[in-house]
Amino acid sequence: RMTVLEKGAPERIERRTVSDLEHAFYPHSFVVPYTDVVHDRAVLELFRGCSQGCRFCQAGYIYRPVRERTVSRLKELARSIIDSTGFEELSLSSLSSSDYTGIVELLNELEQEFGDKYVKMSLPSLRADVSALQLADRVSQSGGVTFAPEAGSQRLRNVINKRITEEEILEAAAQAVASGRRHIKLYFMIGLPTETDQDLEELVFLVQKIVDLRRTAGNRKHAFKVTVSASTFVPKAHTPFQWEPQIALAEIKRRQDFLRQQFRKIKRVDFTWHEAEMSFLEAVFARGDRRLAAVLERAYALGCKLDAWSDSFNFTLWEKAFAAEGIEPEKYAHYRPGLKERLPWEHIDTGLSGEFLRHEYQKALQGEITHDCRERGCVGCGLPDCPIRQVT
Ligand code: SF4
Repeated sequence: RMTVLEKGAPERIERRTVSDLEHAFYPHSFVVPYTDVVHDRAVLELFRGCSQGCRFCQAGYIYRPVRERTVSRLKELARSIIDSTGFEELSLSSLSSSDYTGIVELLNELEQEFGDKYVKMSLPSLRADVSALQLADRVSQSGGVTFAPEAGSQRLRNVINKRITEEEILEAAAQAVASGRRHIKLYFMIGLPTETDQDLEELVFLVQKIVDLRRTAGNRKHAFKVTVSASTFVPKAHTPFQWEPQIALAEIKRRQDFLRQQFRKIKRVDFTWHEAEMSFLEAVFARGDRRLAAVLERAYALGCKLDAWSDSFNFTLWEKAFAAEGIEPEKYAHYRPGLKERLPWEHIDTGLSGEFLRHEYQKALQGEITHDCRERGCVGCGLPDCPIRQVT
């Protein structure tokens, strides 16, 4: 049982949800910096939540249910944002923008509105399939395209509930190559629950097949490159994988090494990976408890700042901070709690039922998929008063 330390603090904290996104405040007039900034564009949030159910994704669970803005409201917001800020790019943002039900109509409307005003649209977070590629082609036909298969084998994609087949990935990639795209970026995760060396080998085969598409598409005269980016799986609280450990640091490095060696043999592939120690720290804090607060404070006092920039990241300082507070970080990152065990974040009520998360975890281990509740009906996540359940 969680003990309340501060007098008057609630034992249980319920998540607040904006149920009427359509009429909720949205910033449309704000200060625009003079300097170049990393995301130098305006952002239009299409909808909140995601019903895909990828089992590693915390946002997909804690921001349920899906709540969409109407096309007319988005058009009104877009006009107001562009008029007041002067941005020349508008990012149509959400957790999975190709899942917005009015996406084609919205693009039509925005093209009509901004077509002669040199305002460019961008669509981040697209699925790895042909329909998403067609949307990407509408906003930009040049440059690169990004797909996130996340896992190289079908078996592992089923485990994580990434419901996309190899045929669909290859079809989308083939279309990208045929339409003259010169750069395909592929995002994968290593160290996913149940991953074996065979899954990594299949990941390499999949990349090889995508590289080979250029030959079959007869598109050999153009420069062409595939960038493979491999992050490391971080188990997150409030997801079905909260009961899984992260793989050991040495094992992360071994798997990264394996991929590095393999991709060295394939021409036109750039391989990038996330720093193993950084992923380890993420795993410690993603399933941490209140004892880690002292580590954070200590790390800051020792000089840890701006750690997301690799040139500022100093893992030795973090190790010192853990040691000074008597904490063994491995006990957090590599912890496999029992399914009935009370978890340190359970006093935060996201609205989802623990039973649903447990069931999803067990299905993952069996390689069983769960469908999208907006497409084929409620899958029983336990969210009270869910508007989607009432219409599916
Ligand atoms: S309650 Fe059902 S319909 Fe609503 S988000 Fe959960 S699974 Fe989907």
